[in-house]
Amino acid sequence: MDIRRLEEAPGDLGGLDGKTALVRVDFNLPRSDDGAIADDTRLRAALPTIRFLRERGAAVILLSHFGRPKAAPDPALSLAFVADPLAAALGAPVRFLDRADGRPDGVIPGDVLVLENTRFLPGETENDPSLAEELARLGDLFVMDAFSVAHRANASTAGLADHLPTYAGLSMERELDHIAQALDHPKTPVMAIVGGAKVSTKIGLLENLVEKLDRLAIGGGMANTFLLAKGVDVGRSLAEAHLIGKAADILKAAARHNCEIILPVDVVTATKFEAGAETQVRGRDGVKPGEMVLDVGPDTVGELMDAMDKSNTLIWNGPLGAFETPPFDTSTIEAAKYAARLCRADKIVAVAGGGDTVAALNAAGVAEDFTFVSTAGGAFLEWMEGKRLPGVQIVTRGSA
Ligand code: ADP
Ligand code: MG
Repeated sequence: MDIRRLEEAPGDLGGLDGKTALVRVDFNLPRSDDGAIADDTRLRAALPTIRFLRERGAAVILLSHFGRPKAAPDPALSLAFVADPLAAALGAPVRFLDRADGRPDGVIPGDVLVLENTRFLPGETENDPSLAEELARLGDLFVMDAFSVAHRANASTAGLADHLPTYAGLSMERELDHIAQALDHPKTPVMAIVGGAKVSTKIGLLENLVEKLDRLAIGGGMANTFLLAKGVDVGRSLAEAHLIGKAADILKAAARHNCEIILPVDVVTATKFEAGAETQVRGRDGVKPGEMVLDVGPDTVGELMDAMDKSNTLIWNGPLGAFETPPFDTSTIEAAKYAARLCRADKIVAVAGGGDTVAALNAAGVAEDFTFVSTAGGAFLEWMEGKRLPGVQIVTRGSA
């Protein structure tokens, strides 16, 4: 991936001193009931790019959406709350800017401003060219630093690139380098673990992966649909009977592309879906009519470990079982710990993403050991589906 890196900007633009950079960040931060920032990961992700720009004499205007306002101001969704915590994290003053019409007054090198919620602006989500033009008047260059919104073609995530020299910010660059390393130029053999609730939400992803990978392990509720397609009775389990044909097609495509498919050989069942429920380990052909499959079994985890041993790259999306409800987190945690061990020993490159996947890896205490964990839910999935993301295309040369 030939990325337009932020490091190139000073050379391209004859220095950044006195310039104003518009930086698209993701300040769609989770807030607790008292308004406090519940998780500041995304706030901290913005710091390296802000520092880079300030150190070179640029002023910085940060652009982000927050929540889902309806293209009009909504006081409950103002981004004003970000200024103070950001100033504290940065160790420099941060000003809030409530209007996007024209250059703010008195901006000097090193200033940091947070613009009001971009989704208050009509045309943002439609990527209206006239809004992009108006936003572009605020600055001299555009830095896209929010991979998590790169799948959206908005004025502030893509449209600005039509009007300003555009670069990938340092967080975006790091994310792109890691995902490219895992799927575009991986160290082979490459394996994926795909789990989660349903096949229906991940058909595109499965179709893309079987064409590219050496092996694909399917777990979670979605494995039940594949087992159904193979004529296995899965009792009362979550499964999508109407997608049996699709599952069979995916298995055929895998065979055509020499992608080994790993389906559960054994499963953990229960008659009640609740924490601490009594469980049984069954061969996959042994599920009783009243039972639900809620996790993959120990022999399946063993097969996953063998497959990881034989692979040099692992891509993981989706938990292997209903991990929020112990003991159905057992296999996900075991497999995650094993992957983490291989990572620490430099035996595998492991990249994971997806909202619930990140939660599961955190629960297993191994997120830090993975090579990279993407917190970008939708963008990560669309990238795994092989889609071109508008926010990535604007920061890459040639085909993104
Ligand atoms: P991600 O957010 O990482 O992309 P998904 O949203 O696709 O993952 O799937 C996660 C959900 O799948 C979790 O809520 C988990 O409880 C559920 N799940 C996994 N296995 C099963 C199963 N066997 N039965 C029911 N739900 C399952
Ligand atoms: Mg999810």
